[in-house]
Amino acid sequence: MISYGKQTITQSDIDSVIEVLKSDWLTQGPAVELFENNLKTYFEAEHCCAVSNGTAALHLTGLALGWQAGDIVITSPITFLSSVNCIVYAGATPDFVDIDPVSYTIDSNQLEEKVKAYREEGKNVKAIIGVDFAGHPCEWKALRQIADRYELQLVNDNCHALGAEYFGNKQYAVKYADVVIQSYHPVKHITTGEGGAVLTNNLEIDSKVRCLRTHGMTKDLRQIEKNSSPWYYEMHTLGYNYRITDFQCALGSSQLMKLDQFVKKRCEIAIRYNEEFEGNQLLIIPNVSSTVSHAFHLYPLQIDFQKISLNKIDLFREFEKLNIKLQVHYIPVHTQPYYMEKFDFQWGDYPIAEEYYEKVISLPMYPSLSTSDIEYIVEKINAFE
Ligand SMILES: *Cc1c(COP(=O)(O)O)cnc(C)c1O
Repeated sequence: MISYGKQTITQSDIDSVIEVLKSDWLTQGPAVELFENNLKTYFEAEHCCAVSNGTAALHLTGLALGWQAGDIVITSPITFLSSVNCIVYAGATPDFVDIDPVSYTIDSNQLEEKVKAYREEGKNVKAIIGVDFAGHPCEWKALRQIADRYELQLVNDNCHALGAEYFGNKQYAVKYADVVIQSYHPVKHITTGEGGAVLTNNLEIDSKVRCLRTHGMTKDLRQIEKNSSPWYYEMHTLGYNYRITDFQCALGSSQLMKLDQFVKKRCEIAIRYNEEFEGNQLLIIPNVSSTVSHAFHLYPLQIDFQKISLNKIDLFREFEKLNIKLQVHYIPVHTQPYYMEKFDFQWGDYPIAEEYYEKVISLPMYPSLSTSDIEYIVEKINAFE
């Protein structure tokens, strides 16, 4: 079965994990700090805290940024549930702005209008979470301007875009956003099995995230005023166990060395798909803005189902029979029953996102996808009429 995403693990990855398994530290050891340092170097971040998964990274980000009841945090409806759930974890109120029809990322013009309207009503808009959907960076310059103009916190859910470029810069994420979060789930660009990280240039945010990662406790003597006994620790805030293990981090460091190579392979596959689909009037290939280099976590292909004989469900069944497991990224989050019931969102609220959802499928996209598999997929897609 060919799936939409898959990890690429080589012998050097396996060797680096085995080395840690034979060492003294399975967790809270030196491989964690080494991975954090490697991430800091690659993404040019002053601080990095590796955690158990991307969702944990988002959760701790919201807490470290002080989101609370009455705060409004705005994101895109075309994202994974976690980008929105983290707002609710903090007790804040989620809201959305529709996607830009070209980049499929949050529409910065509509965003500014929404923020302005909220401010005029005296409501407390606190933060924006931009999602670099599919591997296409958001319009970060515009988002930064809006964040500065209205004094908002700016978060980058960067899970899809490791290795992407914005104005020729691979280190754009930390440059524009106050906090950047990543995931290293096996379908993402690099993997640690489960894993994630919070990257930032802000020391205070990093310290808070670090403390929350381990139960909210601190052993930092500068923070402990009264007692200096060696066994002493103090808890000032309610934290979690969101740690990542040393063997996961060893895998992460080994994978990170191959990130550029993985992204290059993904781009080659995308070019191949583009060439094959460009002439097909029934299809819309993913747009790429001239200011970015896409990292192709996903290859979202839009199909005009009005014009072909199959509907989307039938197409999925057909492909399943052909041993190709397609996916859809994503069901717009505002249409999830939880969000409709609890926050009163409705179908029709974000028409561009909804139309995109009607049409889009994710084709298989991962570095080890073979040329013959690509040809097979292309042939089956182009056979629709
Ligand atoms: C994968 C992903 C997450 C969550 O990461 P996990 O490591 O699976 O918890 C959050 N946001 C986006 C956009 C993702 O793709």
